[in-house]
Amino acid sequence: MKIIADVDKCTGCDRCKLACSYQLHEGFNVFLSNIEIEKEITGLPLKIYFKAPCIDLPCKKPLCIEFCLEKALEII
Ligand code: SF4
Ligand code: SF4
Repeated sequence: MKIIADVDKCTGCDRCKLACSYQLHEGFNVFLSNIEIEKEITGLPLKIYFKAPCIDLPCKKPLCIEFCLEKALEII
């Protein structure tokens, strides 16, 4: 199982990264997140590349999914 993002819904807000850092380290720091998001802002629409290498899902109840207001994340 892993986390994937629907990049058409993702706005690049980074809430999932903050949630992940809190889940793993009990602090809000995007640099301590398992999630990588690259935003290509040279043109419109915004292009998002999302990567969360959580193949074995360390979190029983992933906060990254709960924090995403756009409902862009899911477990497959
Ligand atoms: S919280 Fe959702 S919308 Fe925001 S960056 Fe993460 S996946 Fe994208
Ligand atoms: S499943 Fe857990 S470790 Fe993986 S991205 Fe979500 S919150 Fe972070």
